[in-house]
Amino acid sequence: YGDFNQKIDYVFKVVLIGDSAVGKTQLLARFSRNEFSVDSKATIGVEFQTKTLVVDQKTVKAQIWDTAGQERYRAVTSAYYRGAVGAMLVYDMTKRQSFDHMSRWLEELRGHADKNIVIMLIGNKCDLGSLRAVPTEDAQEFAERENLFFMETSALESTNVETAFFTILKEIYRIIS
Ligand code: GDP
Repeated sequence: YGDFNQKIDYVFKVVLIGDSAVGKTQLLARFSRNEFSVDSKATIGVEFQTKTLVVDQKTVKAQIWDTAGQERYRAVTSAYYRGAVGAMLVYDMTKRQSFDHMSRWLEELRGHADKNIVIMLIGNKCDLGSLRAVPTEDAQEFAERENLFFMETSALESTNVETAFFTILKEIYRIIS
């Protein structure tokens, strides 16, 4: 990453959506900076982080957007979705309601985003296995029905976070190349 003159072949915008407190900000912190903070976020407003990686010998700059609190006010605007080629639909696997809301978020996403957008369903906080409120099979079934990729992650323990982002970026690359 030390090369500031690095040639960027592609910039992919990916948006994170889902209820408040499911771990969107921490997934982004883990992916972009390999960080996690227990008491996160005081900021309100749209923010993004970037990470540059190599996919099939091409340099891809992932620009990952976080709602940064706006989801509480149902104020995620169309500007947020504009130009997005990927979306991570995040729920907290210990909070059934956050999973039940996925269909609403999906509807909102499909209403605003490009029809070719690649979507991944993410069940976050898999480190809290004993508190699980959403069986893997329920999520898998939903993902299959809606044609989404699916993964369970932990931003806290770093489980599947890179894999999830890498999978969606590879799929985006496969579609546009
Ligand atoms: P957001 O509102 O969706 O952006 O959620 P945050 O990223 O702010 O996370 C909400 C809370 O859940 C914070 O207290 C985080 O520390 C916690 N959290 C986020 N990801 C995980 C995880 O993978 N495991 C556990 N145990 N806690 C998490």
